[in-house]
Amino acid sequence: MSRNHPVRLTVVRTEQVAPSMRRIVLGGDDFDAFESAYRGMREPYTDAYGKLVFLADGHDYPDPLDLEVVQQTMPQEAWPVLRTYTIRWVDAEARELAIDFVIHGIDGGEGVAGPWAARAEPGDVIHLRGPNGGYVPDTTADLLLFVGDEAGFPAIAASLEALPAGVRALALVEVDGPDDEIAVTSAADVQVRWLHRGDAVAGTTTLLDDAVRALDWPAGRVQAFVHGESALLKSVRPHLLDERGIARADISVSAYWRRGTTEEGFRAWKSQQSDAVMRPGTP
Ligand SMILES: Cc1cc2nc3c(=O)[nH]c(=O)nc-3n(C[C@H](O)[C@H](O)[C@H](O)COP(=O)(O)OP(=O)(O)OC[C@H]3O[C@@H](n4cnc5c(N)ncnc54)[C@H](O)[C@@H]3O)c2cc1C
Repeated sequence: MSRNHPVRLTVVRTEQVAPSMRRIVLGGDDFDAFESAYRGMREPYTDAYGKLVFLADGHDYPDPLDLEVVQQTMPQEAWPVLRTYTIRWVDAEARELAIDFVIHGIDGGEGVAGPWAARAEPGDVIHLRGPNGGYVPDTTADLLLFVGDEAGFPAIAASLEALPAGVRALALVEVDGPDDEIAVTSAADVQVRWLHRGDAVAGTTTLLDDAVRALDWPAGRVQAFVHGESALLKSVRPHLLDERGIARADISVSAYWRRGTTEEGFRAWKSQQSDAVMRPGTP
């Protein structure tokens, strides 16, 4: 697998893990190629993300898929749409990996990846490029603080699960309501505090920002992971840096989506915001 050669995976089963979150379990002949790349990048990261490749209907693509050949030989309307997703877990023995999709919009009706996940059935095919590494927790910190919404939760959950005993972690997670709370198990001392937005639209509340500001700040060194809608970063990051005095190197921030903008529009916006993505390896 390389940048231009995504792996071809097949939907094995789907699970509604919460009203707004659907897990798609993938496998198939290319699983081994994926797993070998995953094993190669896994250390020292606790989360991993890849690009899902959505092909346009009505076109014959090279098999195996080669994105460079597609760009060089096919009309622009056939160029695939790419969407970034966290690999929630990998089970090498069962030869499966899972991705948790936020089903956003009415019936998943806006976007490409959300609607695809809402409709996915066993046997459907999807290509995946990557994975790449994300976050490296510093287990010597006195507290690992995680802040995110549903889109950031798969990365938060994967990281919490990977933490060793003796580490203290607090996660502040915004979801629609109590039914959207998803259990996480960890050897570490982990507390997940759920914030319910109720009828408010995702990406419009200040719940996470308010919760971070209201925290009874612990003594010692805090490492922070803040991943979610773009407005969250804009408010929380300056607070952590300027008011809490967290060192820049101890903050991992990543905007995962932007309200009202597709991932393409969002990528263009990100590239204009030189300070929007502050950590190496972030797409
Ligand atoms: C490193 C990384 C890891 C990510 N991991 C995950 C993951 O594991 N699971 C996950 O669900 N998302 C994840 N995301 C976010 C995901 O890539 C975006 O939400 C993406 O825009 C979804 O694509 P789409 O085709 O469904 O919608 P788009 O076509 O990109 O957008 C269509 C419309 O939907 C809105 N929209 C997009 N995402 C959301 C959302 N989450 N809630 C409400 N409205 C939304 C947009 O603002 C836009 O108006 C991750 C992003 C990054 C950068």
